[in-house]
Parts: sequence; structure tokens; C-alpha cells
Amino acid sequence: QAGEAFDTAELQRLDSAHYLHPFTDHGALRETGARVMVRGEGVYLWDSEGRRVIDGMSGLWCVNAGYGRSAIADAVHRQLLALPFYNSFFNTTNVPAVRLAAKLAGLAPPGFQHAFFTSSGSEANDTAVRMAWRYWQLMGQPQRQAIISRRNAYHGSTIAGASLGGMDAMHAQGALPLPGFHHIGQPSYAEHGRGMSEAEFGLAAARWLEDKILELGPERVAAFIGEPVQGAGGVVIPPATYWPEIQRICDRYGILLVADEVICGFGRLGAWFGCETMGMRPDLIAFAKGVTSGYVPLGGVLAGERVAAALIDKGGDFNHGFTYSGHPAACAAALANLRIMQDERLVERVAKETGPHLKARFGALAAHPLVGHAESIGMAAGLDLVRRKGATLHDGEPFARALAVGMLCRAHMFDNGVIMRAVGDRMIVAPPLSMNCAQIDEMIDRIRYCLDLTLAD
Ligand code: PLP
Repeated sequence: QAGEAFDTAELQRLDSAHYLHPFTDHGALRETGARVMVRGEGVYLWDSEGRRVIDGMSGLWCVNAGYGRSAIADAVHRQLLALPFYNSFFNTTNVPAVRLAAKLAGLAPPGFQHAFFTSSGSEANDTAVRMAWRYWQLMGQPQRQAIISRRNAYHGSTIAGASLGGMDAMHAQGALPLPGFHHIGQPSYAEHGRGMSEAEFGLAAARWLEDKILELGPERVAAFIGEPVQGAGGVVIPPATYWPEIQRICDRYGILLVADEVICGFGRLGAWFGCETMGMRPDLIAFAKGVTSGYVPLGGVLAGERVAAALIDKGGDFNHGFTYSGHPAACAAALANLRIMQDERLVERVAKETGPHLKARFGALAAHPLVGHAESIGMAAGLDLVRRKGATLHDGEPFARALAVGMLCRAHMFDNGVIMRAVGDRMIVAPPLSMNCAQIDEMIDRIRYCLDLTLAD
């Protein structure tokens, strides 16, 4: 493909005629035509017109090791020739799946010795729900079926994933959430913390969980699920008091805690798993994306001691699985990706070098006249666009929603060589963990230039 000339107009015509995109307004897309991405190298992407962009979003929060990793491609190629597929239902297994399960047991927090594989984060969360239900059956408490998650969360697009998710726009398009799925508010200090210190707000937001548990009856609640730092909801970094208090509440009522690490896992927050940085001791960890750096689809659930002991020692079937659970080529991609991450010390670099650099440079954007607040953790960052800045986080003035300033800003970014995501008027980045400090500077300079363009509109 490198060096190949592309007929962009023809590709856009075919795209518009035949391709239904995820999460897309197809009427609007028909007007503009899709941008055709054709190549990636390191932290850069090129489109079919030869324009280069710096990828501030790691594809979709997943290309953690960056583009163009021939070691991953070679590992997949070798595995496809040796054994492209065999299932691991019943009594068979395959070499990359076994090795990956063992590798993950070594990287995960203590007590996580077992992995179940899926092909996506949505399936991982579905699996976590089904594991939680099965756990409580095996423990003789089958009435524990209620699942609690948070509003504005994104946990995937399957029926259970979208039910776990707290996005009104998704629920509005069908009979969602499924019965038994309940939501509490997200720990967004910017949105809900007026009049409180951050620490006070963290405790107050965690106690929404206790209120919900008491409303439902603790004996009916199976699990609470949340991302250590909510990603697609807008890089919502909870106050330090939040997760320890959630942990206390889950422990008090015996409720399983599920960490959705689909974004936070594999180094995003400067540790292999986000829960390690947040004072969480989850029972289940859902993962996907960064495990293969997105080169091949793979997800899964890591089961902690409590659940694994029940599933294994209490015996009986767990009637759940996917044809591609433990797909040999996907597991080979993951092993090669994790080797790169370890050889290049990417997680450590996020903790000690690139994460702090991003924090300093991104945080400085708060001085821009259009920015109310800017924050980051590891290699994930978010800023709020405001009409009028305030002295505190809570007395700035937001833009009217209908102006869609975030989308305008995003379009400037896209046209000027940097990919940033808009969640309403919150602009977020989550670049590849392989991005170096000079590239972070380049990304921030472009962002600043595009904030100027947005201000001038
Ligand atoms: N969970 C979280 C936190 C996510 O961000 C996503 C996807 O963005 C998912 C689950 C769903 O993963 P997938 O798109 O691989 O099904």
C-alpha cells in the first residue's frame, strides 16, 4: 500500500454507497465524504491525499505501541501459517492463548491468575456480567442479579454493553437499558462538585453507590462496574477519595467490583492496569484495545481469586464463549505487542517521562482564552472549552450546546494535522504511549494553533 496512489473520490463514492459506519450520521457523512486513512508509522497517520496527521487518539484509544510495528505483523503472519484457528471449547487449547493467559497473569495485579478471551471490549463486559451472575449462582445467592454502573459511561455496543453504558443517546434508540441494569452519577467534579472540595466530592459521589445499593437491596446486587478513569465519557479523572470509598462500599455489602480497563489497561495511566493507580481492588478486570495495540481484535476478562475459585473449584459449566475466544493469531499479536511494550519500557516511560511532560504541556493550555480547565493523567487528557473563563472550575460559562463548539474545534484539528476527540465541548487526547516528548510538543503546538482558529470563528 505504501506509495500506492488512491482515487479518493471513488473510494468516498463506494464508502457512501455501501459502508455503514459505527456511530455516524450518514446523512452528514454523505455531504462531506469520509477521510480515507491509508497508512500509519509511529504516531503519524496519512490519508489518501498524502496529508499527514499526528494521532492524538491512538486510533480509538488502542494503538498504544504506535503504528508500523513489523514485529507484531510478523508474529501474526507466522501464527497464521502454523495454525490460523482452532477453538478452545471443551478440552482443546492453543499455544499463543496459553502463553498469553500466563503472560497476563504475570502483568496483572496480585491474585489475577486466570484469563477468559473475547474479541472486543463489549464482549469482555458482557462476559464480566455473565461471570458475576454465574459467581453468585455458584455461591448460592442467585437472586443477586442487579448490575450498577454510571451515567455517561461507555462500556460497549452489545445489548449488555449498551445497558451498562449510561449514554442517553444509545438508550434512546431501543429498549435499553435491559431490566436489572442501574446507573449512578459519574464522579465529575467539574459537573457536580460545586460548593465542595474535591476530596469531599469524591466521597459524596461514591456514596451515590451506597444509596443505590440500599434502594435495590444489597442482597439483590451482583456487581458494580466502572472505568478507573472514564475515557469516552470525557477523561473524567475522579478525586483521589472516590475509588477507595467505592471499594469500602463494595466490601461492606460483598458486591463484586468490575474494573473496565478497556481504555485504562495496558499502560494508559502509567501502570499496567488503571486500577493499580486508583486504589481499587477489583474482582474482575475487563480488557481489550491496548492488549494488541489494536493490530488484531482481542479482549477478555481477568478473573481475580474470589471469582476464579468459584468458577473452578465449585465446578460445573460456565455456558459462555465465542468462536474466537483465544484466537491464535490475536493472541500472537498480543504477545508480540506486550514484548514491545516491555522492551521499550513504555509503561514506565508514561509514569516517569511522557505522562509528566504531557501533564505540564497540556495543563498550560488552561491559560488559553477558550479553555476553562485542562487536566491529564498518564497519556490521557481533557480540556473544557468555555465562553467565559471563571476564577474557579465552577463559575466559568459554558457555550450553548447548539453551537457545537467542540465539533467545530475538532474539525479544525482534523484539517490542521492533529486528531483530537470532542465529547460535547470537552476536547480529549489519548496518544500512543510510544509518543516521545518532542512529539508531545508538536501535538500541543498544533492544538494551541487550532484553539486560536476556533476562537477566531
Ligand atoms: N469499554 C470501554 C471503556 C470502552 O472505551 C470501549 C470502547 O471504546 C468498550 C468497552 C467497548 O469495546 P469494543 O469497541 O472493543 O467493543
